[in-house]
Amino acid sequence: MLSEFDLIKEYFQRPQHAVPPQVALGIGDDCALIAPTPGLQTAISSDMLVEGRHFFAGEDPLRLGHKALAVNLSDLAAMGARPLGFTLALALPAADRGWLAGFAQGLFALADAFNIALIGGDTTKGPLTICITVFGELAPGQALRRGAARPGDDIWISGTLGDARLALAGYRLELAQPLDADSQRAAAVRMHTPVPRVELGMQLAAQGVAHAAIDISDGLVGDLGHILARSGVGATLDVDALPAGDILATQPAALRRAYSAAGGDDYELCFTAPVASREAILAIAASVATPVTRVGRIEAQPGLRLVDAAGAPLDLQLGGFDHFTS
Ligand code: ADP
Ligand code: MG
Repeated sequence: MLSEFDLIKEYFQRPQHAVPPQVALGIGDDCALIAPTPGLQTAISSDMLVEGRHFFAGEDPLRLGHKALAVNLSDLAAMGARPLGFTLALALPAADRGWLAGFAQGLFALADAFNIALIGGDTTKGPLTICITVFGELAPGQALRRGAARPGDDIWISGTLGDARLALAGYRLELAQPLDADSQRAAAVRMHTPVPRVELGMQLAAQGVAHAAIDISDGLVGDLGHILARSGVGATLDVDALPAGDILATQPAALRRAYSAAGGDDYELCFTAPVASREAILAIAASVATPVTRVGRIEAQPGLRLVDAAGAPLDLQLGGFDHFTS
C-alpha cells in the first residue's frame, strides 16, 4: 500500500538539482519559500479541475497532468507574468501507481518546458479533483489587466479557436455530420493539451504594447465580455475574421462562427492594443512563433456587436460558459 507520504515522495518530490533557483525551499516543510526578484510583483492564480465537470471519468492521466498545469499557466500568460512555480492540491479516490505515474509525467513535461518547479501541495482521499496554484512575477505597472481596454484599441487573438469545442461536440455526438476519426483525434489534441501562451503574454507586457488581456477559457464572446465590463467600453467583433482551428475550418460556416466565437477551452489570449502597436505586436508574435489575428475594435459605446465579413450585424445568440447556469 502506498501511504500519503510515500506517494508524495515517489511521484511529486524531485531531486534538488531539478528545482530552479527561484525556489529557496521546495516540497517537504510546512511551507515552500520562493525568492522573488527584488522590485517585481508576485502574480498568483488557482484553477481547479473536477472529474465529471471539467473532464470525463477515466480521462488519460498524462493529458490531465498537462492540462491541469496548462490552464493555470494560461492565467499567468494573460497577465503577462513570468512563471516561477506552482503548488498541487490533489484529491484522489485511490493511490493508483499507474495513474500517478502518468499524471506526474504529463505535469512535469510541461513544468520542465517552462523551467518551473512543483513547490508543495496537499494530498487527500476523495473524488478526483486537481487544484493547482501558480506563482509568477512581473514588473509593477506592466500587468495586462482586464480593465485596461480603451476605445480605439484593436482586438487581437492568438492562435486559433474552436477545435476544442468541436472535439467536445464529437464526443457528445452533437454534430449533424460526425467527424472522421483522424479529425476527431486532431481536434481532441486541442481540447486535451492546450498550449499556454506564456512567451507572448510576457513580451506584450514587458514591451508595453498591449492594454488589456484575458485567456479564452469559456469562449471568446464571454471572455471578451469580461474585458468590456471591467473597462467600461464596448466592441465590434468581426466573427468571420476569427481564426478557426484547422479542423473547425473544414466545417460549415454556421458551426465555424459559433465555435470560434463561443466554443470554450481554447486557452488562447484575447488582448487589446492601440493601433500604433500593430507592427510591434506582429514582430513579437513572429519572435515567439505564435500567430496573432486582428478581429475587432474597442469602442466607447457599451455592448458587444457581432458582425460578418461585410460588416452586417450577426445575431448568434451566444454566451459564455457559466458553471451555475450552463
Ligand atoms: P501539512 O500537514 O503541513 O499540510 P503535508 O503533510 O500535507 O503537510 O505535506 C507534506 C509536504 O508535502 C508539504 O511540504 C507539502 O507542501 C507537500 N505536498 C503534499 N501534497 C503534495 C502534492 N500533491 N504535490 C506536491 N507537494 C505536496
Ligand atoms: Mg496537509
